[in-house]
Amino acid sequence: MQRRTKIVATLGPVTDGDKRLRKLIKAGLDVARLNFSHGDAEEHRMRARQLRAAARKCGRDVGLMGDLQGPKIRIKRFTGHHVELADGAHFFLDSELGYEDGTVDGVGVALDTLHQDVAPGDEMLLNDGMITLRVNRIEGTRIHTTVVTGGILSDHKGINKKGGGLSAPALTEIDKQNIKLAAELEMDFLAVSFVRSGDDVMEARRLFTEAGGSGLIVAKIERAEAVDNFDSILEAADVIMVARGDLGVEVGYTELIGIQKNLIRRTRKGGKIVITATQMMESMIDNPIPTRAEVSDVSNAVMDGTDAVMLSGETAVGKYPVEAIRAMSEVCTGAEKFRLTQHPTRHRLDDVFEHVDEAIAMAVMYTANHMDVKAIIALTESGSTTRWMSRVRSDIPIYAFTPYASTSRRVALYRGVYPVAFAIQDMDRGRLYADIFKTLLSNKLVMADDLVIFSKGDIVGVSGGTNSMAILKVSET
Ligand code: PGA
Ligand code: MN
Repeated sequence: MQRRTKIVATLGPVTDGDKRLRKLIKAGLDVARLNFSHGDAEEHRMRARQLRAAARKCGRDVGLMGDLQGPKIRIKRFTGHHVELADGAHFFLDSELGYEDGTVDGVGVALDTLHQDVAPGDEMLLNDGMITLRVNRIEGTRIHTTVVTGGILSDHKGINKKGGGLSAPALTEIDKQNIKLAAELEMDFLAVSFVRSGDDVMEARRLFTEAGGSGLIVAKIERAEAVDNFDSILEAADVIMVARGDLGVEVGYTELIGIQKNLIRRTRKGGKIVITATQMMESMIDNPIPTRAEVSDVSNAVMDGTDAVMLSGETAVGKYPVEAIRAMSEVCTGAEKFRLTQHPTRHRLDDVFEHVDEAIAMAVMYTANHMDVKAIIALTESGSTTRWMSRVRSDIPIYAFTPYASTSRRVALYRGVYPVAFAIQDMDRGRLYADIFKTLLSNKLVMADDLVIFSKGDIVGVSGGTNSMAILKVSET
């Protein structure tokens, strides 16, 4: 059985080079992520070029995702680059303090309005929650705090407020430049960090389109407000990322997994795609095998129906990037077996469908799940038919036959969907089926006499109507 859950992995210094990239692709990489929080434009151009060349050599459609850094609020610098904060000590945050003037008494912050967004009693979390400060009082721009949990604090570490509510807008000037870069590099996915509402997602899409980009928009859920405004974000986005790093700091990690399960369920129900991200195999930055806790974490996301799982530091800067992808791939496949014992899906069973191609997609899946068919073949231009199909739980592979490489690289993220390059030569039904059988057999996707379900959803100009479904027995010739 082939793996249905897809793998997103972040490229970085340790993944550079053609040979290394081809190893990552062979180990199971489906979508490569470039993190605009690190590196410069030249580095991203080089990585995008190398990735595309390696994918071509492997004969694979690998998606490319650009991830905007967003308004991550950071402290400025220390005179000695780091300090050690003792529990119970006093420490201040002040946007007016000089850029490199931080000491053990306090440090600058790169958000002029921070003092307006906090109140006495608030908890400030630094360095992904490693250090906690409690706000005592505010004096002008200076926020006086007591160290609750101390430790080493170094230059540029991130700050979050527990519970959320920092008012930084979602797109910074740097993000706007990177949106142009993403368009230039023809990114298949643009991930938008720290969105607060659907409007932030629409603004990013508008700028991306304006810059000539045409990829899917990924909304990263990593603020407490984004959970509250999830419906409007889901409506505006194509893909949701459960960005557990920052989200876990803002909402507190105890409730994080409940929120994750809820977001996965709502995204699938809403017909969209969902990625589960951050610290999924964190220990593999240093070790060649994952911990049982990590195996459990990945497995549970897979069992809950996530489309994709993501690797960050594990591949970008880790010691075992290839092993991390391979381990993740194997864990996904193992966890998917559990699905076989589950009840059949009730996805959209009591709903009214709005689109004809969605209705066809649902009919295909219902039929496929109730007959002994080996594959679903969807002739698709945009991939939308296969997206609807893949929302329904099934063990049958969905092959997206498409003439467009850009569509192939998008559906690479959809659970259970596999792109197949297919140029429609002939609209005559008999000859079209013959071409499809030939492609299926030469790629060894099915065997002669297997039953398959064929649908053409959103292909225009196919004779005999734009929508249909057929149950076919594969024949040679
Ligand atoms: P990041 O986003 O890796 O860009 O911080 C993911 C997260 O916060 O989980
Ligand atoms: Mn983040």
